[in-house]
This record gives sequence, C-alpha cells and structure tokens, in this order.
Amino acid sequence: METEILKYILDNQGAVITSDLLFNLCNTSTLSEIICNNDKFKTCLFNGTPKVVVRSPVKLCWRKDCPGCGGLHLCKSFLLTESCQFTYTRRGCIFSHDLHSGHNEIILTKFGLETLSRAQLCLLLLQSNNNLLPPICHNYNNRNGCEDTSCTRLHICEKFLNSDCSCFRTHDFLAPQPLKLLQDKRIPACMIRSLKCVYANKQALWLADKLNSRRNVNTTRLQATTYPTSSSAAFQRSSSKQQKTCIIA
Ligand SMILES: [Zn+2]
Ligand SMILES: [Zn+2]
Ligand SMILES: [Zn+2]
Ligand SMILES: [Zn+2]
Repeated sequence: METEILKYILDNQGAVITSDLLFNLCNTSTLSEIICNNDKFKTCLFNGTPKVVVRSPVKLCWRKDCPGCGGLHLCKSFLLTESCQFTYTRRGCIFSHDLHSGHNEIILTKFGLETLSRAQLCLLLLQSNNNLLPPICHNYNNRNGCEDTSCTRLHICEKFLNSDCSCFRTHDFLAPQPLKLLQDKRIPACMIRSLKCVYANKQALWLADKLNSRRNVNTTRLQATTYPTSSSAAFQRSSSKQQKTCIIA
C-alpha cells in the first residue's frame, strides 16, 4: 500500500489532497499509520488545505569513477529527460544511463523506490534534493528586493507558487533571470513550465519542517522547565515520541 500511495502521489504532481487519498486509496487509519511511520510522506498545508507531499533522502552521486557510495549512479540529463546530449559523442557520457544497474538497484531497494519509473523518480528527486534546482531568492520576495545582479537564486514570486498573484514580481519561470539559472542547472526547456508545482511542494516541505523544529524546540523548553532533573534517556524517548506525532486531518 505504501508504494501504491507513493506512486499515486508522484503521478499527481508530487502532492495530493489528503481527502483524495482517503477517497481513492485507503481508509484513515491505514493512511495515518503509513504517514506516521514513513519519512517519505509529509502532511503539509497549501493555503490551509492539507496535502500529502512525498520526498526521499536519496541523492545522485556526482563523482566521476566513484568506487561505490550511497547515491544513485545516474546521469542527470538521463534522469530528467531520458536522453543525453553526450550519448552520440566520441567519448560518450561519463555517467551511467542504466537506472537498474546492480549498484542503483541496491540503493533504490534500500529507500523503497525500486518499482518507480524514471519519470516518478525524477519528480521525487527534484522536490526532495536541494542541489538539482536553484532555490528561490528570499531577498527578492522581501520588501526591499534583491540587489545582487549576479544572484544565483531564482527571482520568482513565492506567493504565485500557491495562488494567483498579480504583484510586480516575476511569475514566469521563462523570464530571463530564472531561465538562465535553470539552463545553467541543465533543466530542459520542456520541463521548465511544469516547475511551479515542484517549487510549491519544496516550499511546503520546508515550511512543514520549520514548523516541526519550532514545535520540538518549544517542547524541549517546556520539558526543561517542567522536569529539570529528568535523565537524558527519558528525555530522548519523549522527544522521539513528539517527532512521531502527525496529523492527517
Ligand atoms: Zn557514487
Ligand atoms: Zn548522460
Ligand atoms: Zn536574488
Ligand atoms: Zn506575485
């Protein structure tokens, strides 16, 4: 069921309204158990609507001739488009185009991703990894704006990611500044138009994590005041219990 939910969410742009999952896939207690016990799923609020967003810690390995590591040995262009400009060159591509090589199978199985298609895996990595896409510039979204003419973060309106917005900021990933940075990261033109959802999901995950760590800090403070003499083992137990708390609303 866990893989079924993961694939369903990835086939629906990486985030699905929680009630849609309950309507189409499983009952509340099954979904709640899967989300609580699995780091792949995170409940996030999108303009007040709870959605389940998926992510994974698996990374692409950038090392040439890597002897073995915990990352996927796969060409980024191949992951993104199933094609690579170096395929027909004399030297060929230095990275693997085999998603199901022995090494990759071990890594994919370890993270429970072995049955995902290339397109599903691609979306999962785009919204979970921080080095595949350039981040959005927070200064640009502040009142004073970003004055760095060589800024390496996207000058895109953050509000527009989740709603219609008609402010003066850029709402187009094909505008010169974002387009150049995305091209520098070798994001193909055909994919750029569909990035709005990926960035909205990344932003929702970031906010949910921030909220979680704030909650944990508050709990720590509360415990420090209430139980000044509690042993660290007891504290760790209650702290991990706190992290497991999740609501599927
Ligand atoms: Zn490696
Ligand atoms: Zn390649
Ligand atoms: Zn900037
Ligand atoms: Zn705007």
